[in-house]
Amino acid sequence: MSEYPASGPPPQIPPTPAPRPATTLRQRLAELRGPSVAPHPLDARALAALAANPGCKRRALLDAAGVNKAVLATALGSPAAFGQSQFAFMRGNAFEAKVKADGGTELLRLLYERLGGGCEAAPQEAQVPDLTAAGPEGRAARTALALREATAAGGWALLDHPMLALEVAGSPAYLEPDAVVVHPDGTWTVVEIKSFPMIDGSADAAKVGAAARQSAVYVLALERIAEKTGGARVGHRVLLVCPKDFSNLPTASVVDVRKQRAVTRRQLTRLTRIEDIAATLPEGTTFDPGCSPQELGQAVESVGAAYAPECLAACELAFHCREKSRVQGAVESLGRSVRGELGGLTTVGAVLAAAAGKEGDPADPTVAALRRAAALRAEALEGRAVCH
Ligand code: SF4
Repeated sequence: MSEYPASGPPPQIPPTPAPRPATTLRQRLAELRGPSVAPHPLDARALAALAANPGCKRRALLDAAGVNKAVLATALGSPAAFGQSQFAFMRGNAFEAKVKADGGTELLRLLYERLGGGCEAAPQEAQVPDLTAAGPEGRAARTALALREATAAGGWALLDHPMLALEVAGSPAYLEPDAVVVHPDGTWTVVEIKSFPMIDGSADAAKVGAAARQSAVYVLALERIAEKTGGARVGHRVLLVCPKDFSNLPTASVVDVRKQRAVTRRQLTRLTRIEDIAATLPEGTTFDPGCSPQELGQAVESVGAAYAPECLAACELAFHCREKSRVQGAVESLGRSVRGELGGLTTVGAVLAAAAGKEGDPADPTVAALRRAAALRAEALEGRAVCH
């Protein structure tokens, strides 16, 4: 017996949808960024900040996709409050040009003075290989070749703005240190040139710390190349060059980045793979700056974040994430140490309820401490009211 009526055309059976063609990670990241948007380069500063907050999938994904987070934050109505002024940027560039003038003579003198060089005499001249090539991949390949050639030649070489590749969460990031010097004994030294002053031989500790974390990322990237280069060794002491006192004369100090290197390396291995984060996003998610603020807000909220007050100094989305974290009443917005002290209480509401005796197990030491603190506060306020 036929399942269809004897007369009339058979019902239309909708065609089976063709399977969606598999997209590569690169295509998927381009879709997320916006097809016509050029990728925002991921620099060592951003990578060091990413490594400092490895639990943040939002930042990992946005950085891997090359999304300009400053533009995104502005579109969301929470522009970033940090960044270099145009004046500071130009002053930094002028200082760097001065340090590297005459084939890097002054730079090499400072380096030899502070670090020695694996040879008896101070460098009189150094090779400055041409590192130009098309695209970041081409420049990274050219840099690797120049490093190998300079190491084999056994002399001094100054690589000005080399390009280094480092795999981060399964996708490549391209990094550009100010310079790398190859010593005659095969040591490679990272050079960071900063425009903050070094007064009486020491500079602002927070700025030096940030420069050390940034340099540690370069060291990690260089180690990947050195592994395949006979006779090469990456120095864990980097040269930090700054203006001396209140002049624009260069001076330098050596910063040991072994600790920062170890921490960054460990944190980068803890990052969730970008493919895995991208696979959890709803179909059609995009951070294209041409989208409306509502669409961008939804896209941003579709990726988990791990806000902490430290984000304010390191991530362009900090004001947006802080606002969301406060709305959710998350205790993370009060700081990681506070979060650690509060144990199983994850929201401000739960903490207040526990302190007021409305919720929580009195045997829990955190709950007991909160109740004791609330009682002391009430006592103090009562005493103040009596005095008045
Ligand atoms: S500000 Fe937001 S996106 Fe940036 S690191 Fe912090 S939580 Fe992640």
